[in-house]
Amino acid sequence: MGLRDSVLPGSGCVPVMEIGCRAVWRRCAGHWRTCMAAVLSPAKVTRGVMCVRTPPLLSPAPWMRRRLCMSAQSRLCWSCQCEIRTEELFCPSCRSLQPPDLTRGYFYLLNCDRSFDVNVQELQKKYRDLQRSLHPDYFSQKPQFERDISDQQSSLVNKAYKTLLSPLSRGIYLLGLHGITFTEGTEEGIDAPFLFEILEVNEQLNEATTDAEIQEIGNDVQEKCQMLTENVKEAFQKGDLEGAKKFLTTMKYYTNILEQVKKKILP
Ligand SMILES: [Zn+2]
Repeated sequence: MGLRDSVLPGSGCVPVMEIGCRAVWRRCAGHWRTCMAAVLSPAKVTRGVMCVRTPPLLSPAPWMRRRLCMSAQSRLCWSCQCEIRTEELFCPSCRSLQPPDLTRGYFYLLNCDRSFDVNVQELQKKYRDLQRSLHPDYFSQKPQFERDISDQQSSLVNKAYKTLLSPLSRGIYLLGLHGITFTEGTEEGIDAPFLFEILEVNEQLNEATTDAEIQEIGNDVQEKCQMLTENVKEAFQKGDLEGAKKFLTTMKYYTNILEQVKKKILP
């Protein structure tokens, strides 16, 4: 049964937002009681409905008037409907965890400047703080709906952290925010001498037999990646996005070699 089908015919109430397989319902003051009864049982959803008996644009319900006046910096708590700032993870009034705002990017989520030059220590600290407040133990006694939100928030934070931590993925992500796509396997801006060098390093890695030899190759490549990270940083600072893309393409090849080095050294 779809969510809309779960509303009793003639009640005039519709869900206004869906998250996953569940719904967040908005309250219309006049029909709260009736609509709760109509909706709660079949759909097993948690709260509220929007009443469409009164055309909202002609005579908006109180919560809707409030919503229309709200800036992009605020939203309504799914649980108690109080107005909260968008960056707030928990409602200051009822302490419910809020659903992730997918329109905001990873930099916003981890509360750092939208720049290639991130402070890794600060990023790690913010990540740890967020993961602590989203720890599953904290939600074990909460309703399933809120547990689902905590899973969504937690995986989003993990994804954001992983993306922003590595210079390569951070650079690619930042380019994406500027509308520049980075196609996998592209050889754009790659010249023959560079490809030859990569082939040679791969060959050395295949022939290396001891951990020390493999590590040495890894150290050389790591050094090159560090230099490229500086190049990418400068390019972004100058606003030279095509330059940043070129350095990132090169970095991708070296990063692939570093991954092979790690696999070879692991027992
Ligand atoms: Zn609340």
